[in-house]
Parts: sequence; C-alpha cells; structure tokens
Amino acid sequence: MRAPLSLFFVLAAARVLAQQPAETPKMKPEMTEFWEPVPKVVTPGKSNDAPPSDAVVLFDGKDLSRWKDKDGNAAKWEVKNGVFTVVKGTGDITTRQDFGDFQLHIEYRIPEEIQGQSQTRGNSGIFLQGRYELQVLDSYNNRTYSNGQAASIYKQNPPLVNAMRKPGEWNIYDVVYTAPRFKEDGTLFTPARVTVLHNGVLVQNNFEIKGGTEYMGLPTYKQHGKGPLRLQDHGDPSKPISFRNIWVREL
Ligand code: MG
Repeated sequence: MRAPLSLFFVLAAARVLAQQPAETPKMKPEMTEFWEPVPKVVTPGKSNDAPPSDAVVLFDGKDLSRWKDKDGNAAKWEVKNGVFTVVKGTGDITTRQDFGDFQLHIEYRIPEEIQGQSQTRGNSGIFLQGRYELQVLDSYNNRTYSNGQAASIYKQNPPLVNAMRKPGEWNIYDVVYTAPRFKEDGTLFTPARVTVLHNGVLVQNNFEIKGGTEYMGLPTYKQHGKGPLRLQDHGDPSKPISFRNIWVREL
C-alpha cells in the first residue's frame, strides 16, 4: 500500500530539518578559558641577569666543573675574580650537559687593551648544540663582514643592529633556541630557530638557522640529538676574552 502524499512531504521536511546545523550556542567568557595545565611557579632571580629557580647554572664565578676540554678532561681556561678567561691554545670548552631547546644567558667582556682588527679582535663564539655559532667579537668600531660581526649567526645572518658595548665593559646575550627536528630517515624536518637579545636589544628575531656553521662553504644539516654549548678558543693573537654568569633553562 502506498503512503499518502502528505506523509511523504512530512517525512521529507523532517529529514531536511534534521540536516540543519545545530544553532551556535551563545558564547560566554568562560567557554574560552582553560584552567589546566597550571604553569609551574619559577622564582625569578634578584635581577633579570640572575638565574631563576629552574635554571642550570653553568658558571657561578667559582669553577669550571660543568665544562670540559675537547678530550673530556677538566677545562683549562683560567678562573679568577669570579670570571673565566680563554687560555689560548688549550682549545674550545664544552658543557658536560647536553641541551635541546633552551633559554641561555651569557655575559662576556672584550679586554680593554684589545688590539687587532676585523676577525682577529676579541674573537670567540658560542656554539649552540655544539654546531651553530653565535659570534663573539669586538664589534665596537671594528669593521668586518656583517655576517661575521658580534651577535651574527656566523656566516649566515648579521645582527639586526650593532648593540656592542666598548672594550672593558660586559656584554650580555640572552638567547632563545629551538633545536632542529629530523625525520626518521635522518633528513631535516624543521630547522633550528634562534632569537637573541644583545644587551637587551633584539638582534636575531626567530632566525631560521641554515645548517651547521662552516668557515668555508655552505651550511648543511646533519642529524643530531641534544648537544652541549661550546665556547671557542679562536686562534687569533689578540688578548683573550672573559665570560661570567652563564645559565640555561631547558624548555
Ligand atoms: Mg668566532
């Protein structure tokens, strides 16, 4: 027996109505709030240069116990009066601990009596994960190639501005670093990124690192995991530079 035509229309209308999207609920402020997770409490340092409560202190003025030389032995750079100074010819030093993503605070001083020019004037460097050099140099009235001056990502990106303090004064780098990610087959998934403040002035703004630092040739990526910080003993003959107050927060 065939259904009456009117019933057919009623069923068809019901089907159409059922397919209508539900009416959007009226938004309330609390509908876009979330309360979990709760950010953990970190006690800031007494000043913004002092390590906060969750920092790994890599140098607090006393010793280089958190650092080693290239053979894994105690770092041979000189600690004196709360700072440490490169001892030329003893090689780079690296942290004993490896890091992935991090926030870094580090201070350095070019000696007042610095001599030399361009790259042979107060050259050192901070190798992020042991591979990507954030340049340390005297760039106060010292012309060199722009992507090799202080606060450059060496041979890749110059700083946005030159915020260098003069020799004899302390310079500060505050660094936010995101490590590169690699695919299972070892090829690059996402490059490393770095933001740097030099004496509180933004000099690298989320720069996408192009690969490992090369003195000669183009940078490329090679798969790696966590890595240390490495400080450079540059081979130039100018007076060695000093460091102090180094701390890292793992992210
Ligand atoms: Mg260097």
